[in-house]
This record gives sequence, structure tokens and C-alpha cells, in this order.
Amino acid sequence: MAIENNTESWDYAPSLEGTSHIQLKKKYDLFIDGKWVKPKSGKYFASINPANEEVLAEVAHANKADVDLAVKAARKAYNNVWSKMAPSERAKYIYRIARLMQERAREFAVIESLDAGKTIRESRDIDVPLACNHFFYYAGWADKLEYAFPNRKVESLGVAGQIIPWNFPLLMAAWKIAPALATGNTVVLKPAETTSLTALKLAEIIEESGLPAGVVNIVTGFGDTGAAIVNHHDVNKIAFTGSTAVGKIIQKAIAGTHKKATLELGGKSANIIFDDAPIDQAVEGIVNGIFFNQGHVCCAGSRLFVQENIADKVIRKLKQRMDSLYVGNPLDKNTDIGAINSKEQLETINKYIQIGKNEGAEMYQPKCDIPKKGFYCAPTIFTNVAQSNVIAQEEIFGPVLTIQTFRTVDEVIQKANNSPYGLAAGVWTDKGSRIFNLTTKLRAGVIWANTYNKFDPTSPFGGYKESGFGREGGLHGLSGYVKLS
Ligand code: ADP
Repeated sequence: MAIENNTESWDYAPSLEGTSHIQLKKKYDLFIDGKWVKPKSGKYFASINPANEEVLAEVAHANKADVDLAVKAARKAYNNVWSKMAPSERAKYIYRIARLMQERAREFAVIESLDAGKTIRESRDIDVPLACNHFFYYAGWADKLEYAFPNRKVESLGVAGQIIPWNFPLLMAAWKIAPALATGNTVVLKPAETTSLTALKLAEIIEESGLPAGVVNIVTGFGDTGAAIVNHHDVNKIAFTGSTAVGKIIQKAIAGTHKKATLELGGKSANIIFDDAPIDQAVEGIVNGIFFNQGHVCCAGSRLFVQENIADKVIRKLKQRMDSLYVGNPLDKNTDIGAINSKEQLETINKYIQIGKNEGAEMYQPKCDIPKKGFYCAPTIFTNVAQSNVIAQEEIFGPVLTIQTFRTVDEVIQKANNSPYGLAAGVWTDKGSRIFNLTTKLRAGVIWANTYNKFDPTSPFGGYKESGFGREGGLHGLSGYVKLS
């Protein structure tokens, strides 16, 4: 069907995912040494639903003493149990965690949408299945490490301290925990302060799985809790996903220590459309790359480069598509753009939108009904953007896209690489040779061709430049957790 002249959008009846099947405690303690323990700090903080600002649960705020307890538990479990266990036995536990998660997938998806603001479509179809698949995938590697690293002696590192952000709370926990366990390490993990609940649910599953006490410890809290993990003398490895600013603090803190690190940081990824691209699919790819997840993806395709001779057509079609996007309740299956994760993040996004306007870029936002309560942002594009504009340089982490044009391949490579970041990129063209040319020249860890934002546990993910170092996922994801000799 030709959609070129179809400017109509139509209303759907709301289709809300139910919440009666989920179980949330009113108050969550810390999960240390296989038990739920009250924080020594005595402090708790509220985890709120960004879609309506209601409190979902109180969560413990771990201090240095709590982190110390967790690291001690992880060390004891490493020395006495986990490092001594046959790899095939370790695999069974990881597999069991995957199965239990799968059984409760619906509950995980709803809690993720409530706590993080992401649409139920995303959490149900992407985050939760991928998180389960990471556990399944790494369970398979646990007893095959000698094949992963042929002719090398493979040893685990010890205690891994893992700090994760709020954009993919459960998936990031799976990315971090599964390879660490498969390689024989024990874990202290800290979720982001605005999205602790699925990590705490995962702790319940871990408890249910019978995993030996102390192998995985979950401590909740803010930046100070993360810093206590980073600075703890008995942690062997830091795995961090988050902002470049905090990544730099962590790198300084561990410089000169024995700690190994992988850092997955910010991004300002280029999505490049050539004039021979399938335009309708490309427009859908742009929307998927920046709007469907509220732009809350570190690899979001936030800088669009369109070949000049098709720019008018692509922008016209993109605006039409934006007019039909639904912004609203994350639990409604029709919703395309859910809630922004926190008030602070919404303020940051709005600040950048204002900067874009002040810089003279031209803004377009569709008219959409935005709920009165909660944190929401309409999909936003900026045209007439200069390469030097702040909105084209800095990570916004919201549904905001800058659009620039180009004429030649060399020009777009130069423009796309002109960024302190190098996490991901997308290329849309009919020519295979052009794809291969660009994939060798774009300085980005992941490059999608004629698609965007596709993930798989077997594929490594990670950045260049200020987007960090180290790879997670796939065979490469094992390397960060082993010592080879
Ligand atoms: P974002 O901008 O995505 O919120 P942050 O880098 O601020 O990213 O946060 C990512 C994670 O890092 C969160 O779990 C947060 O609590 C934690 N964190 C924040 N500051 C520090 C710090 N100084 N040391 C260690 N972890 C930190």
C-alpha cells in the first residue's frame, strides 16, 4: 500500500497490560550472601513510576559498609565454592536462572515498564527475551572455555563489581552477570538508582535457583554505592555501563590498581541513508533507532545523515510517520514512546531542545496528547543543523534527532566520524560494496546495515573512543572476565 499521501492517523482503543499478576514488595533490602539484609546505612529511597510519579517500592541505599559485606560474601563464595565447582555444574545453575526468568517473563516485562517507563512492547519483546537468552547463551560456554580460547590456560578473575544504568535495567544485569558466572567469577552488582526493581526480582530468582550463597550479590543505591564498589580493594574487575563522565571517574579511580575494567559509555551514533536505500524501511529504521525507546539507548541513531537528493522526501516521510506515533502510558500495547526515565533526564532533554532552538536549528514535533502526570517528551527532529552545533555533538539520551545532509561517501564518513564517540552506526543502501566500504571506515563498535538496534547474545557490543572499551556479548564477552596465559 502506498503510504506517501496518507497523512491520516487513527485512534486505537487502549490496550493495557494487566498488573495484577506481578508481585512487588513494599520495601526491598539488600541481597547479600544469599539473604535479604537490612542496609547498615539504615536508609531507603523511593523507586517511582515515571509514567505517573507514584511510588512503586522503597529500596535500600547501600553504603561502604554494606558494599564491604557484599564483596566479602562474593570473595568467600569464590574461594570456597564457585571457583572450585566443575564448569558443567556452574552451567546448570546459569541455565536454571534462564529458565526461571523465562517462566516469569511477563512479570519481569511489566515491572520493567513500570519502573523504567519503557513501553511494554519493548520490555516484553526485546529486553526480557534477550536477557533470558544471554543466560542461556553463556550457560553454553561455561564448560567450553578451552574451545573459546584454544591452547590457552583460562582462569577466572575473582570478584566482579558491576555497575549498570537505567536504560536496559534487566538486560544490562544479564549482560554483566551471565558471562561473569560462566567464567567462574562471583558478582556484586549495583543497578541504577531509578531502576532497581527488576534486578531485585532477578535476585529472587537467583535465590529460587539455589545458586550458592554469595555468588551473586545485589546492592542498590546511588553513585556513592557505585564508587564504594569501584574503590573496594578486594574487587578484581569493574564492568561499567553508563555515562562517559562517570566512566572517566572510574578509570581514574582504578588507574594503577590490579583491577581489570570494561567500560561501555555514551554514544552519538550516525544513521546514514543513501539515495538507493529502501526509503520506507529506512524511515522505519530511523524511528526504531531513536524514537521507539524514548532515545534511551546508548547506541541510539541520534544523528541522521541523508543524501542530499533524497533529503526532502525522507524528511517528509519521517514527519508523516512521527505524526502517527503514540506517546503515553508505557503499559498500553499501542504506545510507541513511553515515559522518560526520570524528571532529571526530562529536564536534560528539554535543555538540549532549547539549545537546539537557540543554535538556530529548525525543530519539528508532532502534535500529540501528552499525559499530564509523569515525564514525557514528544518525538523531536532538528533540521538545518551544523556539524558544530551542541545538539549534533553531545549525547542527549532522549527522542531527539538531528538531521544533516551529505553528497559523497567521503563526506559522510568524515562527518559521521567527527564525534568524540564511536559506539554504533547504521548504513542504508542497496549496494553491498558500499556497506563494506563504510563498515571499515566508520569508527564505531557496531554497524548495522539496512536495519538498526538489533541485538543478539552471540554478537559482541562495545565502543571506540569516548564510548569506552572492551566488548560484551558473544565470545568476546568472555574475554573481559578471564586471565589467559
Ligand atoms: P546515566 O547518565 O546513564 O544515568 P551514570 O553514569 O550517571 O549514567 O550512571 C550509571 C550508573 O553508575 C548508575 O548505577 C549510577 O548510580 C552509577 N554511578 C554514578 N556515579 C558513580 C561513581 N562516581 N562511581 C561509580 N558508579 C557511579
